[in-house]
Amino acid sequence: MGRKRTEITIETERIIYISSRCERSVFWCEKCAKRVPMLSAEEAAVVLRVHVSEIFRRIENGELHYVQINESPVRICPNSLVK
Ligand SMILES: [Zn+2]
Repeated sequence: MGRKRTEITIETERIIYISSRCERSVFWCEKCAKRVPMLSAEEAAVVLRVHVSEIFRRIENGELHYVQINESPVRICPNSLVK
């Protein structure tokens, strides 16, 4: 019984964590012309299984959609990762 309750608590906290995270990282992608949940450069590197420097190289080459607002870290559009 106690174990079940713990699992539910963990699951709820996980959902709250993910949803708050997603809300924070949804940005307008001009290339896609829609709002998408963007990834950090580190997350994009994990998705592509490359070093983070490769992500910045692709940004410079114009291969990836990204946004950068003021001094905040660059955010990568996931739609540009899958092709
Ligand atoms: Zn995009």
